[in-house]
Amino acid sequence: MSGKILEIDDITVSFGGFKALNHLNFSLEPGELRVIIGPNGAGKTTFLDIITGKTKPTEGTVIFKGKNLRPYSEHQIARMGIGRKFQTPRVYLNLSPRENLQLACNRTKDVLPTLFKSPPTAERRTISGLLETIGLSHKADMKANLLSHGEKQWLEIGMLVAQSPDLLLVDEPVAGLTDEETERTGELLTSLAESHSIIVIEHDMEFVRQIAQGQVTVLHQGSVLCEGAFDQVQSDPRVIEVYLGSSEESEPDHHAPAKAAPPVDTPLAIPD
Ligand code: ADP
Ligand code: MG
Repeated sequence: MSGKILEIDDITVSFGGFKALNHLNFSLEPGELRVIIGPNGAGKTTFLDIITGKTKPTEGTVIFKGKNLRPYSEHQIARMGIGRKFQTPRVYLNLSPRENLQLACNRTKDVLPTLFKSPPTAERRTISGLLETIGLSHKADMKANLLSHGEKQWLEIGMLVAQSPDLLLVDEPVAGLTDEETERTGELLTSLAESHSIIVIEHDMEFVRQIAQGQVTVLHQGSVLCEGAFDQVQSDPRVIEVYLGSSEESEPDHHAPAKAAPPVDTPLAIPD
């Protein structure tokens, strides 16, 4: 046994002839919080899809807690202890945060008894602890549609945690959040990392700087371009090159005069 919670060994995902992931290797220690960055189209979402079983790799293996996930369905993999937070919050807007968390604690039971019966004491304690963790105790009983975008994100993170996953996968949690909400999201993920292994995919470099305590992994064209501490990765010329390349592609400035691309070895900082 390697002791890793997750091991991804030589994964390739082909869509027709195109390789969204290309001989990718990756591993995660239990209790690690790993941030994954990379330009648009690098394969970040596909990377999460192969962990959750949404997409099966064309080649290679995903091993979670020592088990090869290939034979398992997405649903079975979730039950083995992998929780995924999608970019848009998926909470019940006409229910309160408390009710949303009660449902999450009772995923296998019927919805109606969950809502109309008073939950047992242990579960009530869990739910009030979760409300405190996600900072929503004071809004526990208002309808979720009155929450801000950030508060909905925290509620969904709470709903995932309610299912006691060992590994949490979080896709761009701060897109569209205010600066203050972004900072609080960072604090929430950092505190959850004390008891979970977490993979966060993120574009916002300031946020990555806030939460990246250990290694950051950079994906590019379906493979790992480099891995290391945030400062090291941020100043890696290969990373600067792929980021500048992608920002020029995704946000073309039609007003700028045409000019030649800078030489690849120009030392430049990633724009913050
Ligand atoms: P990222 O999340 O890093 O932006 P994705 O994992 O979404 O990247 O996509 C990686 C590449 O694979 C992109 O070029 C995308 O167009 C392609 N891709 C993703 N899913 C599919 C699919 N189902 N069919 C064909 N191409 C896909
Ligand atoms: Mg994506």
